Amino acid sequence: MPLPKRKTSKSKRNSRRAHIKAVAPNLTACPQCGETKVSHHVCHSCGTYKGRTVIETKED
Ligand SMILES: [Zn+2]
Repeated sequence: MPLPKRKTSKSKRNSRRAHIKAVAPNLTACPQCGETKVSHHVCHSCGTYKGRTVIETKED
């Protein structure tokens, strides 16, 4: 099995990982209830997606 000849230095390893970072979720307002939701996801407040109810939510 092939193995690297040298141990990767901290500098090389860190510079490789320099672009790996957490991304903030793309939040938008729900067109049904106006609640903040993640875009392209079902709204957790009213349970709708693309104008129709997808999941049951407690509405009281
Ligand atoms: Zn909603």
